[in-house]
Amino acid sequence: MASGEFQLKQIELIMGLRSRGIRSTKVLSAIEKVPRHLFVSPAFEAQAYADTSLPIECGQTISQPFVVAYMTELLNIGDRDKVLEIGTGSGYQAAVLSHLARRVYTIERYRTLAREAGERFADLGLSNITGMVGDGMRGWPEQAPFDRIIVTAAAEEVPDELQNQLKDGGIMVLPVGPAGGVQHIVRVMREGDNFVHEQKLAVRFVPLVKGRAQQL
Ligand code: SAH
Repeated sequence: MASGEFQLKQIELIMGLRSRGIRSTKVLSAIEKVPRHLFVSPAFEAQAYADTSLPIECGQTISQPFVVAYMTELLNIGDRDKVLEIGTGSGYQAAVLSHLARRVYTIERYRTLAREAGERFADLGLSNITGMVGDGMRGWPEQAPFDRIIVTAAAEEVPDELQNQLKDGGIMVLPVGPAGGVQHIVRVMREGDNFVHEQKLAVRFVPLVKGRAQQL
């Protein structure tokens, strides 16, 4: 497909997100800057700008654009913010974050996914993203605390270790619920030693899995 066609589809996607209730022009323009077709395998290129999740390697998925937009809007990122993402996957969400935040740290348990995402960040010149292979459930203690944390795999409950790596006044957004069942996006707001949890949209994500992947 010619790049002009991707651009047209990108504009249609942005209009669709706006009509579904995404209001933040900052979030919409960050999404507009990321060529989603470069984050999916060639076999799925034609569907890259449809508002659906798609399979990626290692049995994982690239999230639906509406859910990326929705979670990013809930994060309310400032341009000085240091953001942590758990679940790099294709790298698409991290690329969107990189246009809004000062620095993005992203953790993936599959080496293959982390490596391919890293290549995409380099090709696109997204130099404010740092990736790591590891268990995101432990967060990134050496870089903590964070202004914002986003988890893009479903946790059974809000992981304590992650919310403790939020700065005072920080926000974390994540899907919470059983693997394969109904999960909800939860927004956690840290106020001193208190964590205020708000339940939002029903969603379906791949599960957050403990430990580094044994398989590559
Ligand atoms: N944000 C991704 C969506 C990836 S799907 C994107 O934009 O494409 C969720 C990802 O979380 C998968 O790649 C999965 O391997 C990863 N994951 C699950 N549990 C994890 C953990 N404990 N630590 C790090 N990554 C994890």
